[in-house]
Amino acid sequence: MIMSEAEGAGHRELDGLTSITAQSGAGMESCLLDGTPPPCMVVIVGASGDLTSRKIIPALYNLYCNGGLPAPFFAVGCARTDWTTEIFRERMKEALKRAGLFETDRWEGFASLLYYHPVKYDDPASFESLAVRLSELDRELGTCGNKLFYLAIPPSLYPLTATMLGRVGLSAGGSEDGNWARIVVEKPFGRDLQTAIDLDRTLHRYFEEKQIFRIDHYLAKETVQNILMFRFANAIFEPVWNRRYIESVHILAAETLGVEHRSGYYEQAGVLRDMFQNHMMQLLSLTAMDPPSVFEADRVRDEKVRVYGTMRPFETDNLWDYLVLGQYEAGMVGGEKVPAYRQEKGVNFDSLIPTFASMKVFLDSWRWQGVPFYLTSGKRLARKQTEISISFKEVPHSLFRSTLGEHITANRLILGIYPDERITLTFQTKNPGARVCLRSVTMDFQYHQNYTGPVLDAYEKVLLDCMLGDQMLFWRQDGLERCWSFLTPILEECETCSGRSSMLQPYAAGSCGPEAVKKLQNDVLS
Ligand code: NDP
Repeated sequence: MIMSEAEGAGHRELDGLTSITAQSGAGMESCLLDGTPPPCMVVIVGASGDLTSRKIIPALYNLYCNGGLPAPFFAVGCARTDWTTEIFRERMKEALKRAGLFETDRWEGFASLLYYHPVKYDDPASFESLAVRLSELDRELGTCGNKLFYLAIPPSLYPLTATMLGRVGLSAGGSEDGNWARIVVEKPFGRDLQTAIDLDRTLHRYFEEKQIFRIDHYLAKETVQNILMFRFANAIFEPVWNRRYIESVHILAAETLGVEHRSGYYEQAGVLRDMFQNHMMQLLSLTAMDPPSVFEADRVRDEKVRVYGTMRPFETDNLWDYLVLGQYEAGMVGGEKVPAYRQEKGVNFDSLIPTFASMKVFLDSWRWQGVPFYLTSGKRLARKQTEISISFKEVPHSLFRSTLGEHITANRLILGIYPDERITLTFQTKNPGARVCLRSVTMDFQYHQNYTGPVLDAYEKVLLDCMLGDQMLFWRQDGLERCWSFLTPILEECETCSGRSSMLQPYAAGSCGPEAVKKLQNDVLS
């Protein structure tokens, strides 16, 4: 723990003020893995795609290197692309090299766990042949029939693929021998409330809720998980975690990247579906939820769902008092010129898709009545930054009024998620000297302080949890539906209202977002 000058002055360690030190890292490596999962196979549907090569395979490889994979274990890639196992292994080797993870002596062992089987998503015969192949590999390698299907395909194919898997009996799990079948789906979970309900119905035709893992990898980030530990494993924060002490909460997820190669998807989604329906809502619920009675998947998820139930619906008549939407124009990011959103490859030249949103949300609950939660996310902003900032109320009465005036900067607690995984608390102290002068200082805890062991990346954590059957970090359908109930009327209004184009505020790439945000809140990016 260090004490440092608060914002603006940089971080200056002040000798002699260190009063608390973080616990030694000794033995912390034992926290890395929560038991080894049972023998199983992972079947990646959409194995020729981006997610597989950038996230899933690197995560499995790292787990393999850290001893986190079960034994026996194997992974089968499936897609329409007519690859063989050898080609699949070669492609994944290249992907690991691109990610800077490849190590020659580890690769051979990992590669021997990878197989490939082509499938046509609409062809029952090809799923029958997949079932036969899986059963052969299962018998040969001894994975006890445990199967995890990871749908790394466009969301429009989720219903068809889940149905095909179910029809050929691959969804069967939970038998007396204790073996299991689970299905993993990636966001987006529907486009609105009705499509989310429809998708859920289709998934439930063959899979039970306990078999369905709806991933939000944000939740598996260490510092996101740490929010609950911070709030509920310390006695001092919970008494002030409410409307009596907290003025406002700012949740920010800013990106410097533009739409990259995902314009096809983004043109359908926009920032509200891409970020708000999932990541932002999860950060909101972790910040605002009440403590569950026990730290168990369903108790934690019950409390989150309760938060979603308290979100005050926006009145569509004065929607723009609560919401700012923006779209990036050309600008400079990281010293490089970047094009406007409408000039990006695959984007319509007159697209009205928002790449930035900031909304003011109120929670109608005893704890949070009257406290604004500002949720802000956008692409091509000045810096990549994810954090939750809790602004406390100012002191009720300033006894330093005669020398310092009425205003004393309020305390601020920041839960930094990216790039700095840290917790900082800003408060006032006296400046050394004869005069009464205050200055803001910051107590700063860096998440990896005094820890040198290996860490789990978010995808490694979610894959492990899927294999272990722990649904704590995954969306439950009732939570999704509550969030869609809140967001769907907003989306409908944004997408159909007559002044639609004038409500979309332009902002220069590399800036802090549209000017109008300042009116909505007090410059969240400052
Ligand atoms: P891709 O667009 O790379 O597609 C994955 C695979 O699906 C392709 O290799 C292709 O395999 C098959 N496919 C693509 N389009 C079609 C089509 N129109 N009809 C039939 N098959 C098709 O997707 P990603 O890998 O980027 O993403 C997979 C899922 O994960 C998506 O739902 C996405 O929203 C989600 N996701 C992705 C993230 C990422 O970083 N990429 C992050 C978070 C979520 P083939 O042609 O060989 O069958």
